[in-house]
Amino acid sequence: MLEQSKVESFSEKMRGHLVMPDDSNYDEVRTIWNGIIDRKPALIAQCVGTADVVSAVNFAREEGLEVSVKGGGHGVAGKAICDNGLMIDLSLMNTVRVDSKAKRVRVEGGAKLGDMDHETQAFGLATTAGMVSVTGVGGLTLGGGIGYLGRTYGLSADNLMSADVVTAEGKVIHASETENSDLLWALRGGGGNFGIVTSFEFKLYEVGPEVMTGQLFFPIEQGKEVLQMYRKVMDEAPDQLTLNAMVIKTPPAEPFPQQYHGKPALAIVGCYAGDLEKGRRLMEPLEDFGQPMLKMVQPMPYKHLQSSFDAANPDGGRYYWKSQFLKSIPDDALDTILDYSFKAPGAFTATFLEPMGGAINRIGKSDTAYPHRDAMYNLGVCAGWMEEEDDDACISWTREFHNKMSTYSTGGVYSNYLSEGEEERIKAAFGENFYRLQKIKSKYDPGNFFSKNMNIKPVSTT
Ligand SMILES: Cc1cc2nc3c(=O)[nH]c(=O)nc-3n(C[C@H](O)[C@H](O)[C@H](O)COP(=O)(O)OP(=O)(O)OC[C@H]3O[C@@H](n4cnc5c(N)ncnc54)[C@H](O)[C@@H]3O)c2cc1C
Repeated sequence: MLEQSKVESFSEKMRGHLVMPDDSNYDEVRTIWNGIIDRKPALIAQCVGTADVVSAVNFAREEGLEVSVKGGGHGVAGKAICDNGLMIDLSLMNTVRVDSKAKRVRVEGGAKLGDMDHETQAFGLATTAGMVSVTGVGGLTLGGGIGYLGRTYGLSADNLMSADVVTAEGKVIHASETENSDLLWALRGGGGNFGIVTSFEFKLYEVGPEVMTGQLFFPIEQGKEVLQMYRKVMDEAPDQLTLNAMVIKTPPAEPFPQQYHGKPALAIVGCYAGDLEKGRRLMEPLEDFGQPMLKMVQPMPYKHLQSSFDAANPDGGRYYWKSQFLKSIPDDALDTILDYSFKAPGAFTATFLEPMGGAINRIGKSDTAYPHRDAMYNLGVCAGWMEEEDDDACISWTREFHNKMSTYSTGGVYSNYLSEGEEERIKAAFGENFYRLQKIKSKYDPGNFFSKNMNIKPVSTT
């Protein structure tokens, strides 16, 4: 039981807000994207600056409270929220400052991808970010950061130049190539294990503002031939071309033809980050293929592409994801993908293939904490549904489908797509970098104060 006077003195130190279970906004503030995760923190510190984060860390340490850190609240496993502890909510820390001359951007720890893209695109610049604009820059970058620009410019983590970090001791330190460089290495893919990042600095590139985009939707019955053509296009693709293949439920709305509403569809979605006409030519083999129910190959503001799948993953839905990196996608893998996706339960369920390669795979496995530099595709099996009574069916389908695909796997998994209860896969997420990360964890957080994450236990407590 927390002493009232101590809570009051903590509250006085905060410029932001301290939200308690009796407050009318408690449920709204504690809720995260994945509705399957329902936990009740004793306190929520809504920080508005680094000083608040330091106060929150010090208070939790002194009171022996468990902490969880919320960036954008889109962590699939729901580690952003804890029971009976202190949830350190960074979502009000979302300032973004672009230095267009130096081609750098500084992003506060709770900003969303859309906040960053909005500001950088004002200068015709961008860095790699994920494909749903309401995802947090924090969690996404610390785990890696796969997006439409990844094959061209590397992962978000590869473009992380420096960071300000609040440590478990409540100290503010800087990590860069020249200062605490071991920490910068660990932040490039090692997750939220090492401290709370209050500011990220990324390298920027000239992108758009319009890029050539492809959004092609085919009835699932044409799936095999389209996926074979997709594979051929991606086998031959230059780095600037990134197209994801997805099986989704056709949205029940215009401009999708009514006869397909709610039925499975194969979608090929992505962009060419370069000359518009060259991009169009590269997408022609897919544009001219089969009988799509909807095809759009057109220039589009990069910012719009970045939010075009936001509505497909509504807040508060129930989600269970499993993923694995694949070496290749031979024909029998395509058959399995189509068979399972055809009978997918859940209105928001999607199966996707994200192509790796290009700049992502030119970085050495141990150059950053993210080790998956030899994978050709990332396969995500992502069940999404609304009703609790459907939990078992959706989770079983995900697991069975995932297991069937393991023949094609590299054995590696992306830490950012791990679900709750998949802790035994954490070693596979960090691969050969696990032990080096463990040493760095022992240096910066020997007591495992930051444990609600894809946790790497320090050597001393292992
Ligand atoms: C709809 C959806 C789409 C996605 N699309 C992509 C995609 O295109 N590409 C991709 O790579 N990933 C994608 N992801 C996965 C995403 O990268 C992870 O879910 C990521 O953890 C989300 O970060 P967040 O800050 O929103 O999450 P949160 O739940 O807030 O945070 C997750 C964890 O990250 C850590 N963390 C967050 N911020 C900080 C910080 N500032 N300092 C220290 N630790 C921090 C904490 O340990 C926290 O528990 C997607 C996820 C969803 C739900």
